[in-house]
Amino acid sequence: MARRSPARGRRPFDESTPHLPGLSYRGRVALALLEHDRFWPGAVSDAYQGWQNLIHDPYRRLFEPAFGCGYIGCCPDLSEVNAILHAALAVLPPRDAKRLRKRLREFAESW
Ligand SMILES: [Zn+2]
Repeated sequence: MARRSPARGRRPFDESTPHLPGLSYRGRVALALLEHDRFWPGAVSDAYQGWQNLIHDPYRRLFEPAFGCGYIGCCPDLSEVNAILHAALAVLPPRDAKRLRKRLREFAESW
């Protein structure tokens, strides 16, 4: 019997890393790889959270990222948020991408 590789069966992401609600396992893997290669662990969730928080802020149209705290989940720079979320849409499995696209459309309509 072949020796089992030590990496086999291990999740490619840390369970404690924040992630988008309702994602499939394959979607979580895809985002973990994207975040590892291009951003930071939890980047997509942070960007999503930042967008969501901004939408719920009645003063959102007055918000100037240069005067925020710099944390994307709190005081998001929308160009950075959009770059991360579009990268996520490009790597997610179709069903997860469709769900995320729908949520982002709802955010955009609430703006
Ligand atoms: Zn802040």
